[in-house]
Amino acid sequence: METDTRMHDEIQSLSTKRLMGKVAVITGGARGIGAATAKLFAQNGAYVVIADLLDELGANLADSIGGRYIHCDVSKEADVESAIKLALTWKGGLDIMFNNAGIGDAGGSITNLDMDQVKYLVSINVYGNLHGMKYAAQAMIKGGRKGCIICTSSSAALMGGLGGHAYTLSKEAILGMMRSAACELGVHGIRVNCVSPHGVPSEMLVSAYRKFLGRMDVNLEEIGKIIGERASLLPGRCGSTEDVAHAVLYLASENAEYITGHNLVLDGGYTSASSNMS
Ligand code: NAD
Repeated sequence: METDTRMHDEIQSLSTKRLMGKVAVITGGARGIGAATAKLFAQNGAYVVIADLLDELGANLADSIGGRYIHCDVSKEADVESAIKLALTWKGGLDIMFNNAGIGDAGGSITNLDMDQVKYLVSINVYGNLHGMKYAAQAMIKGGRKGCIICTSSSAALMGGLGGHAYTLSKEAILGMMRSAACELGVHGIRVNCVSPHGVPSEMLVSAYRKFLGRMDVNLEEIGKIIGERASLLPGRCGSTEDVAHAVLYLASENAEYITGHNLVLDGGYTSASSNMS
């Protein structure tokens, strides 16, 4: 009886670790969606490299999950190359690339776009993703590993009026890059997918809502309430960083072996409802 229980527990603990021994790089992993994913990946047996600009936060999180941290500005090609190299020297390969780093948009009218701000945002949200795809694909092909690349798009790529114009353009571009890379890399056994969250309370959303509402006292809790109230199809709440992390875990796991070129929308049904406009 005792042996049965022990065996059952051992099998349970192995089967719940869905990324056992896999090596992952997560850009923008110091906080928000990236941090929730880094923790969940580590709980599931992955070795995680966090690549971010927020050194203290990123290094502390990496320490707490037995991972590694590297300072990395994704808009700089050489920084992303170094983050991938760290994974290769640390654990000898790369299995999962989560291109998650991104910034929001100040918004405003299209008639009054500040093109320098647009270019800055594109350098992070679009080129940052492209850099991640390029060096992750190189490493995975060279290592002969059936890896997967997951990029973070947004509901703003699917509906008008959800982000600023530059943000929308960047997130739509990510969907296109994902499909194009999925077509090329399938032959190497590399899957490429996107997640598209909607309205997940995070520091990025706090800055956006502060500008939008013109109030500096807005916090994560209030944002969650506002989003939950506006979205009629949501199951009584808005999404969380953990909701997104679980979807990323699924796409990264062997359970998603047949899924590539796909955009997994994480919105509690929001973009399916024609009457929902924020
Ligand atoms: P966040 O601001 O909490 O996290 C973003 C992380 O990216 C931070 O750790 C930040 O330091 C890092 N980062 C920013 N610029 C970087 C750069 N140049 N190089 C490296 N790292 C950089 O916000 P979040 O909500 O967790 O956002 C994560 C991703 O999810 C972003 O791509 C965002 O566009 C996307 N997204 C978020 C939501 C949402 O509702 N929160 C919805 C759709 C998409």
